[in-house]
Amino acid sequence: MFQLCNNPNCNLELNHKGKHSFICKKAWTKLFNSDDNKKIDKAGCCTPRGGDKGGYQNHVNRNSKVIIPYEKLNEVNLSNYKDGYVIRIFPTQYFASKYKIANEFVNNTDIKVGDNAFILYRTYDDFDNLPPFPNWKIRSVMKYNPATKKYDIPTKNRRGNIIDDGHYLLRISNSGTNKKKNRFEGPAQGIFAPEYADANTNFLCQSVLAWLIINTDDSPYNPDDFVHLKAILDKHNLLTSPHYEKDYIMHNGKTTCPLCQKIIKHSALNESISFEDEEGLTNSTEQVGSTRSTTVNLFHMVPLCYASLENIPTHVSWGHATCNTRLGQRRCYSFTDLQATEIEIDITEGDKKHLLGYANATKNFIRSQNGDVWIRISKGD
Ligand SMILES: [Zn+2]
Ligand SMILES: [Zn+2]
Repeated sequence: MFQLCNNPNCNLELNHKGKHSFICKKAWTKLFNSDDNKKIDKAGCCTPRGGDKGGYQNHVNRNSKVIIPYEKLNEVNLSNYKDGYVIRIFPTQYFASKYKIANEFVNNTDIKVGDNAFILYRTYDDFDNLPPFPNWKIRSVMKYNPATKKYDIPTKNRRGNIIDDGHYLLRISNSGTNKKKNRFEGPAQGIFAPEYADANTNFLCQSVLAWLIINTDDSPYNPDDFVHLKAILDKHNLLTSPHYEKDYIMHNGKTTCPLCQKIIKHSALNESISFEDEEGLTNSTEQVGSTRSTTVNLFHMVPLCYASLENIPTHVSWGHATCNTRLGQRRCYSFTDLQATEIEIDITEGDKKHLLGYANATKNFIRSQNGDVWIRISKGD
């Protein structure tokens, strides 16, 4: 029988050589084909959000430094971000007028531009009317230099022993009316904070997603071959957790889309979405960029937000790209969730009344027993 190392923070096999490690991706990578390995790697990275204009990094691991927009600061719990954070402030927030700092930043010891915050310039108007102080520098990433014992080597990547330097970032697009050039200066500052997961959480999410790939319909894998992965999932209460069935992440042992509840075929994981389906995705965040979406993507049961970390093992699954888009920024309720509210939606036809289904408390999500689902797409007054 396969046994894990006895160290509670280690997911390697018993009597392994070398250091203990929580992260052990070989539990699936050894047996997965390259497409499936890429799919899991991608799920561990932040998805493109047209982020360059905001100074966001894309396609980097979720356990990276995050950007907290100044206006979101009171929503977040900063201690969630174990890999660091930096606060983004717009010039119109920071300056009351030219070279005059707004009251809330005067003598503010929590927010220091050039230290844990930067100013993001996005228009020439702001750059001209509310310019950076003359002694301010554009942001840069500096690498540690063992020879000088200082951070004095400019670099473009954030790996290794680095610090951020400087006060502001330029992401100014030519507005069309002026003849000025676009000015994109200073490196990306971090990832979109709602996408954050620390390295161990990210690993457990990937372990769950690998297990769900193994259990897709027509999967080329035999679950019994993944003894190491099963042991890891079991250790973290993720192998037989009731949430899979309750949330329709799996049904009768097969991976399902939590919104439409249809079984997910292994081939759908890596096939490009059809052009007809793609049309429905034009407004989706997944679709920013030039690459086409796959039919099935990473699906979050609870929308990612600033208030809490939601890229966690019990909230990730695979779902249709089209279902993801339809769900939007809503929580995906299961039938059991809705039935528990006891909010019944009835339809009356003539003198006959029958039960359509159950709704959530805000009544924007309805399911019927047979798997039909309704989502409110607009709201009246
Ligand atoms: Zn160990
Ligand atoms: Zn679906």
